[in-house]
Amino acid sequence: MDFELSEEHRLIKDTARRIAREVVAPRAKELDETGRYPHDYFEAFKNAGLLGMAIPEEMGGTGNGILPLCLAIEEVAKYECGAGLMLVLTGLPNRPIVFGGTKEQQQKYLPDAANGLTKGAFCLTEPDHGSDAANLQTRATRDGDDYILNGNKVYISGGTVADYLTVFARTGGPGAKGISAFVVDAHAPGVNIDRTDDKMGVRSVPTAHFSFSDVRVPAENLLGLAEGAGFNHAMLTLNSMRPTVGARGVGLAEGAASYALEWARDRKAFGSSVIDFEAIQFMFADMAIQIEAARNLVYKAAWLVDQGKFGKEHAHNLSIAKAYATEMANNVASAALQVLGAQGYMKDHPLERHYRDARQLMIVEGSSQVQRVVISRNMIDRNLVYG
Ligand SMILES: Cc1cc2nc3c(=O)[nH]c(=O)nc-3n(C[C@H](O)[C@H](O)[C@H](O)COP(=O)(O)OP(=O)(O)OC[C@H]3O[C@@H](n4cnc5c(N)ncnc54)[C@H](O)[C@@H]3O)c2cc1C
Repeated sequence: MDFELSEEHRLIKDTARRIAREVVAPRAKELDETGRYPHDYFEAFKNAGLLGMAIPEEMGGTGNGILPLCLAIEEVAKYECGAGLMLVLTGLPNRPIVFGGTKEQQQKYLPDAANGLTKGAFCLTEPDHGSDAANLQTRATRDGDDYILNGNKVYISGGTVADYLTVFARTGGPGAKGISAFVVDAHAPGVNIDRTDDKMGVRSVPTAHFSFSDVRVPAENLLGLAEGAGFNHAMLTLNSMRPTVGARGVGLAEGAASYALEWARDRKAFGSSVIDFEAIQFMFADMAIQIEAARNLVYKAAWLVDQGKFGKEHAHNLSIAKAYATEMANNVASAALQVLGAQGYMKDHPLERHYRDARQLMIVEGSSQVQRVVISRNMIDRNLVYG
């Protein structure tokens, strides 16, 4: 067992930290207010070569893996959780192509994505089917050399800036086995963005609601050229990306705790610094305990993914990391805000933003409840015991 980061890991972490401080931090407040997608963040990630980590080298990526991606996400999320989401989106729409695409499909989409020439979005959720994705209703019907796509997808992160969409649609009968995955041109006739959301947090990355009206998708865009494998590729993608959502939580919590610590050194009450009160000191101790536990869970989960261990057998480890780290982020964001008293509640400080941003993490890419379904199922069905 070795807990040291490698030279490569440290280089990626330092690069992300520099971008976080120089590019991300200065605009975080403004982006929260305007809700505009930060193209300059994307350019900085692109110039630093951080966009291809979730894509294997032989498919045109840099192939560093999910652990280095988590390190980068953690650094940028200290200042702006949406910047972390932008890095998550370098994997989420692309890994179904990694797992399910033919060589031609991989070569067509993945090198450009890894080089920052194109952006994708992951389209699974529908108005009536979120957690219950196996029952999704968007339909793709074969018509000669094409499929005709009809349906709706909602809350799609990065949808407004996407060039292509990885869309999960029903080609067969009910349930998971009837679902296939397609790469759809985001600007094809019949693809419409009906609205974007006025969100509570993570406002720098807009979420789009798509409708597909008789969209003609070439049959060559069916992932793997085989119907019925889409749900499996969606689940493998979500499993393998769970550590990255956890990393957003770890970074956010670290940023919030650090900010509160510096503030508490300066603030005076009852003739001393706020940091001198034991009740406040113990709040920081509790934050540190949770952050450290979450970081270790996330790194281990990321390491498992990089070992190829993200199938059903290991799903509970990934879900534990996602659930714990995202819930921890909410606890720590709340505690850090509390340290500042009234000032924490005001927009003069970033803590109310961290608090709002943290709330997203327990819902996206499998809610906390759904993670517990996965964890308990593995404990019961696979007879996991700690004896
Ligand atoms: C900001 C944001 C960005 C998003 N980005 C994307 C994206 O890029 N692509 C995409 O496809 N989707 C995206 N989503 C959608 C997200 O993945 C879903 O919101 C999530 O999967 C939950 O689905 P739902 O909101 O429909 O809730 P529902 O499934 O309707 O669940 C409602 C409640 O019931 C609970 N619940 C549901 N099933 C169970 C169960 N079996 N056991 C116990 N409790 C259960 C849930 O935890 C929740 O509390 C995004 C969402 C948000 C908020």
